[in-house]
Amino acid sequence: MAGPLTLKRAGKYGFCAGVRIADRTVRKLASEGRSGKILGQLVHNERVVSDLVQVGFATAASLDEVRAGTIVFSAHGVPPSFHRRALERGLLVVDTTCPFVYDVHEEARQALEAGFHAVFIGDSAHREVIGYTHDIVLTTADVERIDFDRHPRVKIFYQTTLNSEEYEDVALAIEGAADHAERADTICYATKENQDAARDLAADPGIDCIVVVGGRHSANTRHLWEICRAAQPRSYLVHGSDDLRADWFADCGGVGITAGASTPDSMIEEVEGAIRLLAASPAPASGPLAAPEAAL
Ligand code: SF4
Repeated sequence: MAGPLTLKRAGKYGFCAGVRIADRTVRKLASEGRSGKILGQLVHNERVVSDLVQVGFATAASLDEVRAGTIVFSAHGVPPSFHRRALERGLLVVDTTCPFVYDVHEEARQALEAGFHAVFIGDSAHREVIGYTHDIVLTTADVERIDFDRHPRVKIFYQTTLNSEEYEDVALAIEGAADHAERADTICYATKENQDAARDLAADPGIDCIVVVGGRHSANTRHLWEICRAAQPRSYLVHGSDDLRADWFADCGGVGITAGASTPDSMIEEVEGAIRLLAASPAPASGPLAAPEAAL
């Protein structure tokens, strides 16, 4: 050990405001003795999903699965038809769609009304964009498949959680193909802020290694880890405290911590506490469990 261990969290990390509110809403309902189903995962984190099952809110893969009771729409929104279908079958809707997503939907509605051809850059399976656009593209090859001769005016939207810089080539391809194209400002800065803060943490000269905490299937957590690893090779991705290894911290003075947008505060606290314990161990040699990502 290089000396007393200093732990430093990134300036921004973890749940965005929209997900935090959705999580609190469901837990409040549970505390009032209510139960129901959540359409899709509230967040892409196995621990959160399992916690919510314990308190009475299991995940439903589709609306058709929910025949009665309460249905929760997650922060990332649903296609407009879902509200109608839920009400038709007598479900009680708890809508936790993030206000920022609703802003995007409103801007898309206005563009469609004004005669624009709406093109979203995003994931075609993401409920945030389905029903609010004409085309969904993710690559320049997708753009080539659109016949822009039929669409004199195009409005470009980004799915809120995308990093616009990474999809600049796609936006440029649309602008190159269309006679007239305008960009809507629909990026949510929560994701970008977490990424910028991770970059700052990785560049901090007082930080000798970084632990990135997040769900096994969380793409944005993996992306944070890649950002950290580019500047700080000793960056480790963990899904919980069991993944930590004592030897990571053996000669570390400063440990940075960041977490994906789907990582609850409780998991970050748990990992931070475990790092302190490992660092305080008299002779750290190896950790309790292997961390698969450390070897990637
Ligand atoms: S729009 Fe932004 S703040 Fe809202 S849920 Fe999505 S990522 Fe979170």
